[in-house]
Amino acid sequence: MDIEQIRSDFPALSQTVYGKPLIYLDNAASTQIPRQAVEAMADYMLHSHSNVHRSVHRLGNEATRLYEGARAGAASFLNADEDEVVFTGGTTEAIDLIARAAGDTLEAGDIIAATELEHHSNYLPWARLCERRGAVFQTIPLDGQGRLDLERAQALLRGGRVRLLTVCHVSNVTGVRNPLETLIGMAKEQGTPVLVDGAQGIRHEAVDVKALDCDFYCFSAHKLFGPTGVGVLYAKRRWLEAWAPVRLGGGMVNRFEGDIPVFERPPLRFEAGTPNIAGAVGLQAALAYLTELGLPWIRRRERQLNRRLAQALERVPGVKLLGPPENRTGMVSFVCEGASAFDVAVMLDKLGVAVRSGSHCAIPQMRRLGVLSAVRASPAFYNTEDELEAFARCLRDVLGVLRR
Ligand code: PMP
Repeated sequence: MDIEQIRSDFPALSQTVYGKPLIYLDNAASTQIPRQAVEAMADYMLHSHSNVHRSVHRLGNEATRLYEGARAGAASFLNADEDEVVFTGGTTEAIDLIARAAGDTLEAGDIIAATELEHHSNYLPWARLCERRGAVFQTIPLDGQGRLDLERAQALLRGGRVRLLTVCHVSNVTGVRNPLETLIGMAKEQGTPVLVDGAQGIRHEAVDVKALDCDFYCFSAHKLFGPTGVGVLYAKRRWLEAWAPVRLGGGMVNRFEGDIPVFERPPLRFEAGTPNIAGAVGLQAALAYLTELGLPWIRRRERQLNRRLAQALERVPGVKLLGPPENRTGMVSFVCEGASAFDVAVMLDKLGVAVRSGSHCAIPQMRRLGVLSAVRASPAFYNTEDELEAFARCLRDVLGVLRR
């Protein structure tokens, strides 16, 4: 693969900031968007912009065709059926939708189980729901090395009160991929449904929701080389058919029987109001782009880059990587002796390096790792080995200044 050719599809990558070439290593926050996806959105907005599932005129039909085409693209990307794909505003909205739709059936004493690795988006809605319903929100702990304690997970599930197991595909702090297959296997033994927060996982491997046999899988387009403000909730048909709609409004009512609205079938039942049509078009183009590059190649390249990144960082004195080294993908988080994560990130920016610092919206996990704040560097397939080495050199320089 010609990386320079690939990079030319992402004009953002070849700019300079403060006179330095940009080294974009914040892909876990948001990936860059290829020209092809931006052009697909522009084309839609300039020539076909209208509303969906409403107007019968030419542009209305074209907008509907493109929007439903995007749904088909997302379904095929996940190996799901089209009616099992709900467009949302992103991962946060997808998880919130499940919590609201399924929440009413939760009883006092029921348990929602998550892991200590969760992003606040997959933590707070469940904690609040449990508080409201007198249920128990319980997290599966990490051991001292940051590995999930599978024995505790097994014991919790066997207790028989867990109504949902919710787990991230890949941690947005340590980059560790969870043993989804094992966890889903354990949950299925007890008939417990499983939600996978795929925000950080979808970018690194082909996801087949049928093979995984999870009940729910969600992701955001902006972490998958698409635009912000759109995402996908995959849910097994039986859940979508059982749930009442969460948001009410236009586009989701089939007819009225007297005063009683009869709602559209899923997925439209869960998409009240005008959706992010241009966003869906952009997502579809991004998925087509990734499919053409080849998901197996992307997976190999990202694993390689991440190993290289970890090795480069391990050679920088006083830098400590967080979490266990195995199964790490897409990012490395670290703390630096004698320098705050914030200062490091601000100074790296001045050298052209974009990384993230802070608690990564995962304070329970950060606490377990014994830190308040960390720097996170997250490469994607379009980053180069040279950029990773340059980043490590910049980090040495920055630490030299900060420790003076
Ligand atoms: N879950 C994980 C694991 C994440 O990394 C993120 C984004 N940082 C989210 C959920 C939330 O995604 P969004 O802000 O796109 O809704």
